[in-house]
Parts: sequence; C-alpha cells; structure tokens
Amino acid sequence: MIVLLDNGHGGLINGKYQTPGKRKDWGDKGIIYEGEFNRAIVNGIIQELTLLKISYVNIAPEYRDVRLETRVKRANQYPASKSFYLSVHSNAGGGSGSEFYTSPGDTKSDKIATIFGETYKQEFPDRRLRTDFSDGDLDKEQRFFVLSKTKMPAVLTESFFMDNLEEFENILNTREGRSKIIKYHLDSILKVKSQLF
Ligand SMILES: [Zn+2]
Repeated sequence: MIVLLDNGHGGLINGKYQTPGKRKDWGDKGIIYEGEFNRAIVNGIIQELTLLKISYVNIAPEYRDVRLETRVKRANQYPASKSFYLSVHSNAGGGSGSEFYTSPGDTKSDKIATIFGETYKQEFPDRRLRTDFSDGDLDKEQRFFVLSKTKMPAVLTESFFMDNLEEFENILNTREGRSKIIKYHLDSILKVKSQLF
C-alpha cells in the first residue's frame, strides 16, 4: 500500500504565503497559514511512515501552490488498487470539530473515511465529529476535485477550524495538538493498511 499525501495548499516562500485566503490572523495570538499547517501534519505523518517502512509519496513537496490538476496527475501515476490518496486540511468558515470527505457514491473511500472518523474520536473523545449519516456512513460527500478525479480511493480530512480561537489556541497552534492530529492520521493509515489492503 502506498499512501499519497497531499498538503492541500501552498506554503511560505521568503515569508510570502502562496495561497490567497486559507489563513487566519489572530493578531497578538498568532497567525495560521493553512498550507503551512497542512505541511506540518503531512511531514509528521511522513516521519512515522519512514520509521514503519510504509511506502508514501509526498504529492506536492514544493512550497508553491501546486495546481489541483497537477496533484491529481501525479497521484494517478500510481496503481489504483495499491494506493490511497489522503488530502490533509484544516477548516474555516465558522464551526468546531473535524470532518471527513469522500466523493459521492459508496466506494472503498467511504470505508477509509469511516476508519478516520472513528480513530479521530478515539484520539479526541471530547471533540466534535461533524458527520452526515444521510448516506449511511459518517463521512461528508463532496465533488472536491482531488477526490473525484483521483482514480484510487481518496479521503480529505478537515482537522478543526482555523477561525475558531479556542481550537486555534488549544489544538492547531500547539505542539501537543498537532501531535495528536498526526497520531490519529497515522493510526488510521495503519488500520486502513491492515483492513483494506
Ligand atoms: Zn484547505
């Protein structure tokens, strides 16, 4: 099994954030650039995968904002039956907790998203899991480009809300919070590997 890791947005180049929006400036309390946060989580996952000798690909190692089409094209070079696509994000727009997306339809992606959601609840039992059970499972379904155009199973995680001050201060902008986010992703990957591949 090969994990295809997507950090979602651009990073900082010479101090300039590469993606419009996708940030929250909390003034004295700090600023979060989503692409940089996503990288921190993806890099943490990679650290653990190298220790476990689990194959992975960093789909967008550059700091510029790689186009979605390019991300998908890179991913689709890998065999659909032996890989899955994991896009790592943090949410915005008002709210709390985390959510897990797949493309519409009942596929292997839904099974993967269910594992992620359940593992998240084990790591963050007191935090909200934002669900949509209308289709029979916990994930939300959206025609996000990277979810519908990748040929392998694909899941997108939205860990907490950048524009929720409590989550920013206690989770997203702390070492402990990020470690827990990395851990639930890693534990999910291990379950996906043993149960679905
Ligand atoms: Zn994002």
